[in-house]
Amino acid sequence: MKKIKKRKLTGFSKLLIKILIILLVIILIPNGIRIYKSSNLKKLKYDHEAISNILDKKVYSEFMNIGENKTMNQVVKEQEFDKKRIDKYAKITYTNQEHLAKNINLLLDKGYNTAEISLIIAHSTTSTTDEFIKKDYIENISNYLKFDYSKTKYIDRYLAYYKLTRESYDNVVTYVNIGLDKEYYKDTKIKDKYSIDMLVNKYNGLSENFEPKNLTKIPSEYCLDKTEEEFLTKEALNAYVEMKEAATAEGYSILINSAYRSYKDQNEVYQTYYNLYGENYVKKYAAKPGYSEHQTGLSFDVASAHSNIFENSKEFNWMKENAYKYGFVLRFPKTKEEVTGFKYEPWHYRYVGKDIAKYMYENNLTFDEYYARFIDTDK
Ligand code: ZN
Repeated sequence: MKKIKKRKLTGFSKLLIKILIILLVIILIPNGIRIYKSSNLKKLKYDHEAISNILDKKVYSEFMNIGENKTMNQVVKEQEFDKKRIDKYAKITYTNQEHLAKNINLLLDKGYNTAEISLIIAHSTTSTTDEFIKKDYIENISNYLKFDYSKTKYIDRYLAYYKLTRESYDNVVTYVNIGLDKEYYKDTKIKDKYSIDMLVNKYNGLSENFEPKNLTKIPSEYCLDKTEEEFLTKEALNAYVEMKEAATAEGYSILINSAYRSYKDQNEVYQTYYNLYGENYVKKYAAKPGYSEHQTGLSFDVASAHSNIFENSKEFNWMKENAYKYGFVLRFPKTKEEVTGFKYEPWHYRYVGKDIAKYMYENNLTFDEYYARFIDTDK
């Protein structure tokens, strides 16, 4: 009797165990698979939220085929993620922006290809991408957006400037970034912060109170007029002394004619020229107060001890080939009057530091161009 009962119980237990095992399999295997897939995706640097979306949206194998991809990591988390467009998303270079999937979808709908979309988002913020999407489709957009310094917020101005000037695309982008498609002294940016790579031109001014902090008196033996007190900022003066000594050692005599000028000083200079020669003259030759580089303490005019006309002096030739080695650049070159907005001034130099000066020298760029390409990186 006992034995039979035991067998019966055993049979029942076996059944129970079987049911339990089946239940466990149903629960554990998918979990095991999910854990296994998650760890594979984790290895490809997908984050926690992306992974759970990938698994929920059943696109695991597609993502494994794509591999590590920051754009995919973001778009899969968004509601607008469209499975049918996975191949397209994967080709788009990542830029950190909000609602990326939504914007990529809209740009694809407009007819832009993935390379173009990569450029559009690379040169925008979220809000400038949103603005860009409202515009009609632009053909060959990459002509304008292929440079590191392109900005989609200026796209309409690039198009208009190209139409007007037929300049190279590189110049169109650079010149519009400078502001050359706009009138001088209109909508200018006024700055108050000193740095050796600060830009002052007809689009970027200084406040009336701006004064560089470390103005230092130039030893009078370095000046043309020994009775005038001239100042430069400390870093500009140190570099000047280094250059001056090198020039002297080679038999050249460069002297400072005019260095730092306050807003008030510049106002006097401007008024004097204005009264003497009239408006057309000052437009080209003299900066309005607040728009002179002399107010930065980083600029100066030089003279030669050997010639009254600096351009004809051997010192000028020496400066042309050597000033950049000490961090100085000829600020208003002969062939770039349209870019700088100033007439050629062989005597006017600007301190920008050795690295920038070298790059400008080697690439034949004015500081306006350099700034528009490499310093003004606001999108
Ligand atoms: Zn000057």
